[in-house]
Amino acid sequence: MISCSTAQGLRAALRTRPDGRRVGLVPTMGYLHEGHASLIREARGRCETVVVSIFVNPLQFGPAEDYEKYPRDLERDRALCEREGADIVFHPSAAEMYRGGRPLTTVHVAELGDGLCGRSRPGHFDGVCTVVSKLLHLVNPTHAFFGEKDWQQLQIVRQMARDLSFPAEIVGCPIVREPDGLALSSRNAYLSREERDAAAAIPRVLSGLAAAVRQGNREISALLEDARRDLEDGNPLLRVDYLSFVDPETLRPLSELRAGQSGLFAAAVYAGATRLIDNALCKRPE
Ligand code: AMP
Repeated sequence: MISCSTAQGLRAALRTRPDGRRVGLVPTMGYLHEGHASLIREARGRCETVVVSIFVNPLQFGPAEDYEKYPRDLERDRALCEREGADIVFHPSAAEMYRGGRPLTTVHVAELGDGLCGRSRPGHFDGVCTVVSKLLHLVNPTHAFFGEKDWQQLQIVRQMARDLSFPAEIVGCPIVREPDGLALSSRNAYLSREERDAAAAIPRVLSGLAAAVRQGNREISALLEDARRDLEDGNPLLRVDYLSFVDPETLRPLSELRAGQSGLFAAAVYAGATRLIDNALCKRPE
C-alpha cells in the first residue's frame, strides 16, 4: 500500500497502477470504522485499484462546528486501509488541498441541499461538493463509493457527477450499524455512556416509522409527531434537529405515499452536544 500526502505523490502512485483498469475512490474524513471498511471492501470487490482519501475538510464545517476537535488517528486509519486491501491512501493537509486558503471556486448543487442537513448546516454541501470534485479530478476514478448513512450527501454527489459529467459511477453502500442499531459514525466517539445508550432510540424510532408505513399506516404527519415525542420525551439527552419524510431522490417532503412509491425517513438528532444522523427507507405496498 502506498501512502501519500501530496497531489504529486498521488499522481506518481496512480502511475504505478496498471492502465485502463477500474479505479475505486473511497472519500473519508478518517477515524475509520467498520462503515468505512465496508466501502473499502465494496471498492476492492469491484475495482483493481482502490484509493482511500483521508481528509478532514475544513470547507464543510461551519464556524461553530467541530473541525478542530474532529477525531483523527492516521496510523490506525492506515492500518485499517492496509488490512482491507487498499492500494493507495491519500491524506493531504488542508494547505495541500487549498493552497491559497479558502478556494474562490466552489461547487453548489441547487435545491437538493436546501432541506434536511442543509438547513441547519448552511454551506456544508458546497464544502462537500468542492472537495469531492477535487478528489474526483485528482484520482479520476471509474467508481466512487459513498455510504447511505449520509443519504442527502449521496444524492447531491450523484447529481453533481451527472451535471458536471464526471465519468465515475457513484456507488451507494448500505449503512453499517452497531448490534443495537446505532449507525456507526466517527462522531460516536464523542458520546458519553449515557448519550450512547440514549442514541439507540434513533434507529429504533426510524425503523418503527418505516415499518408502520410498510404495514399500511398513511398518517405521515401524525407518525412524525409521535416519533419526535417518543425521541425527546423518552430521552432527556436527545433533541431532534429534524425528523422528516422525503422523496428519496428529490429529497422533497412527502405528506403521503402512492401505492408502490418509496419514501425516506431522515433524522438529525443531538445526543448531548453531538449531532447524529440516520435514515430509513420504506415502500408502500402495491
Ligand atoms: P465520513 O468519514 O464520516 O465523511 O464518511 C466517509 C464515507 O463513509 C461517507 O460516504 C459516509 O456515508 C460513509 N459512512 C460513514 N458511516 C457509515 C456507516 N455507518 N455505514 C456506511 N457508510 C458509512
